[in-house]
Amino acid sequence: MSKVLVIGAGGVGSVAVHKMAMNADIFSHITLASRTKSKCDAIAASVKDRTGVVIDTAALDADDVAATTALIKAVQPALVVNLALPYQDLNIMDACLAAGVNYMDTANYEPRDEAKFEYSWQWAYQDRLRDAGLMALLGSGFDPGVTSVFATWTKKHLLDRIDTLDILDCNGGDTGLPFATNFNPEINLREVTAPSRHWENGQWIEGPALAHKQVFDFDQVGEKNMYLMYHEELESLAKFYPEIKRIRFWMTFGDSYLKHLEVLENVGMTRIDPVRFQGQEIIPIQFLKALLPEPASLGPLTKGKTNIGTIATGVKDGAARTVYVNNVCDHEEAYAETGNQAVSYTTGVPAMIGAALMLTGQWKGEGVFNMEQLDPDPFMDMLNKHGLPWKVRDLDAPLAF
Ligand code: NDP
Repeated sequence: MSKVLVIGAGGVGSVAVHKMAMNADIFSHITLASRTKSKCDAIAASVKDRTGVVIDTAALDADDVAATTALIKAVQPALVVNLALPYQDLNIMDACLAAGVNYMDTANYEPRDEAKFEYSWQWAYQDRLRDAGLMALLGSGFDPGVTSVFATWTKKHLLDRIDTLDILDCNGGDTGLPFATNFNPEINLREVTAPSRHWENGQWIEGPALAHKQVFDFDQVGEKNMYLMYHEELESLAKFYPEIKRIRFWMTFGDSYLKHLEVLENVGMTRIDPVRFQGQEIIPIQFLKALLPEPASLGPLTKGKTNIGTIATGVKDGAARTVYVNNVCDHEEAYAETGNQAVSYTTGVPAMIGAALMLTGQWKGEGVFNMEQLDPDPFMDMLNKHGLPWKVRDLDAPLAF
């Protein structure tokens, strides 16, 4: 029985809090804090309707370390779950250190003024957290998160050595809107417009954004174009699995999304530097975010499925083997259960699971941890029990590309 403080009342925060309330034996008391308190209150009302559980809500600007520390001290949680934006990661980690409480998130730190995310800033907390006897778990979403757990479970049970790893992220969902992003638009657009990067033979290979396309036939979705991209878990996978010769990440995009993205980029709307407009400075991508639909509003509109998994090649008992581990999640079923579409659902459920494993002491340690460092078995079990069942199958041959 443990208290938890969740920060961030977006789509992911909403799913995580609903799922925590459904597991009241682990999460004895939930407080949800975010910049806009009305969003916390709307989630609290939905949680009460769906589960009967009453949660507390609070207004919080998590960029303010002192205010965050004060709220943590007032709530006295066993764990702070950061589901705000990557910009807040370091501030919330500082507040957790000041208040002496464990920390967890789903996305690694990214400075506002540079479209660059990497773990180094958060790994730098290792000594301070360890000396304080605290644990920080980084990236307990789907990707990053479940994809690293899939790889770790593959290494533990299916392959003696992994040679190559491909992460395939397909969102076969359709909102019926010409252009919408399925998680925070600013973070999403910064991610997809960055140069592609993959790990090969001990070094990073860079290429232009969204330039390398392959077609893949996804179970329960069908054939989709997927594009080579850089993604957060590549960094931790390359660090913790030096044996893997090549690690790549692929994400599907529809032609309409890419057409809109190209135009928005060409006219400068995805820029992250300030521009003077009518006497004031605006950042184009933030203005664009204000125009685009909020991811949390896409729930009732989205139909179709997501299919995310890992394909690993390697050796088992001396023989070559290729294994595919994946989850398929239905947008409409996710919406029926928590009022949020599958992209929020596939992130919020692993956030709940990571938090549950920390609170129950099944995952414990002192310092900063990535998903690859912890036993994948209890996490894989909980995925099956809490709405994200996975399948594993042998493929006849490695990917042909
Ligand atoms: P949303 O934009 O829907 O929600 C973010 C929430 O954080 C909003 O409620 C926002 O408040 C709040 N927030 C923003 N800044 C602050 C602040 N300074 N203080 C307090 N609250 C703040 O995003 P999502 O729910 O889609 O995503 C949440 C996180 O999950 C992001 O970090 C995202 O990168 C990550 N993610 C991870 C994935 C994974 O698989 N690992 C996949 C998808 C997302 P307000 O409403 O007032 O703006």
